[in-house]
Amino acid sequence: MQKRLTLLGSTGSIGDSTLDVVARHPQRFSIYALTAHRNGEKLVEQCLRFAPEVAVVGDADTAAQVERKLREAGSKTVVTYGPQALVEVSKSDACDTVVAAIVGAAGLAPTLAAAKAGKQILLANKEALVMSGDIFMGTVRDSGAVLLPLDSEHNAVFQCLPNGGHEGVQHGGVTKIILTASGGPFRTREPSTLVNVTPDEACKHPNWSMGRKISVDSATMMNKGLEVIEAHYLFDLPGDRIDVLIHPQSVIHSMVSYADGSVLAQLGNPDMRTPIAHALAFPERVDSGVAQLDLAQVATLTFEKPDYARFPCLALAMKALAEGGVASAALNAANEVAVDAFLNRRIGFMAIAQTVDAVLNALQNHSASSLEVVLEADAAARRAAHTIIDSLPVPA
Ligand code: NAD
Ligand code: MG
Repeated sequence: MQKRLTLLGSTGSIGDSTLDVVARHPQRFSIYALTAHRNGEKLVEQCLRFAPEVAVVGDADTAAQVERKLREAGSKTVVTYGPQALVEVSKSDACDTVVAAIVGAAGLAPTLAAAKAGKQILLANKEALVMSGDIFMGTVRDSGAVLLPLDSEHNAVFQCLPNGGHEGVQHGGVTKIILTASGGPFRTREPSTLVNVTPDEACKHPNWSMGRKISVDSATMMNKGLEVIEAHYLFDLPGDRIDVLIHPQSVIHSMVSYADGSVLAQLGNPDMRTPIAHALAFPERVDSGVAQLDLAQVATLTFEKPDYARFPCLALAMKALAEGGVASAALNAANEVAVDAFLNRRIGFMAIAQTVDAVLNALQNHSASSLEVVLEADAAARRAAHTIIDSLPVPA
């Protein structure tokens, strides 16, 4: 049976990789909806190529431009806009699978709507899970939705679980999950020089090509911290059974260790089309366009412990997970605001961790009892982050 997809965030890096895999298998996959925020031009190109029923953008002006260009080209794709339109295409009966690839908190509402509607969800948008892990996983359980991880580490763990992911970690003698991390562009850089790094330097990842927000998160290693929280919810394991291991070659995407001393790893070239193809075709395997791994050419795989002093964001995320409640939502919101300020050259690189730390210290933690409570904590953390950033000097 053909899978009909809603692709949230189609104009981003994950969106591109997903469409690349979809285009290789037109008999297996078709597109119901594509969504973009402001990049109308790229969305028009994608619509002309994949002929979705619906295209969603962020605002009325972009919608009008996209609509005009599509009509000129003879396309019948319906154009809608705004947050509610994202929710509609995610829960629509016309799609069975939702690829959640919007960056940041903006992805929460449509991804949660897909969960409520019992869809198969291919999750890249880790921020949604970090914000509302218990609520999100509870919704998935109640509705019978199927959640497949796209994040390369979590996809690797899923592949290494007992019976290829068909059983959770509570069975089958799993002792630990080991998330690998490249260490980003600043793994070996003299820490005292990190204050001066530019957004372009921070976005130059040694192994992966990704959107700018996650690239900065990789440079601070907040990304790995968010991924520990993501793994905690996805696989229902406490933080102390999730290890982080630096592996600069990014060939082993993560591992699962077992009671008998076995460690299972998933390997591959660092290209998101592999986890995307795995999740799209699950439980089958299809061509992703990624070259086969040549281990003789890779020759050396190395490992080291993470340096929490160099990467304070990683420690902050671990602390937020240990605290529970709305601490993860506040951490995520403060980080989104701080990364945006860094990308706009309003604060320096080291001020990202400083801002997140100050926000977590300023806010009172409490239980994440409902989605409203989580969204309030998110908003409060954003306000606190803006106040802290206003008091910081503009970098030279
Ligand atoms: P990106 O910046 O390249 O793309 C983001 C997409 O989200 C774009 O289509 C954009 O139009 C859309 N978007 C942005 N703000 C929006 C808003 N307010 N409302 C609606 N849509 C909005 O990001 P990316 O690198 O593709 O990452 C997407 C998600 O996948 C992130 O959560 C990231 O952490 C996760 N992820 C990415 C990679 C990767 O290799 N790029 C790997 C693992 C996980
Ligand atoms: Mg990852």
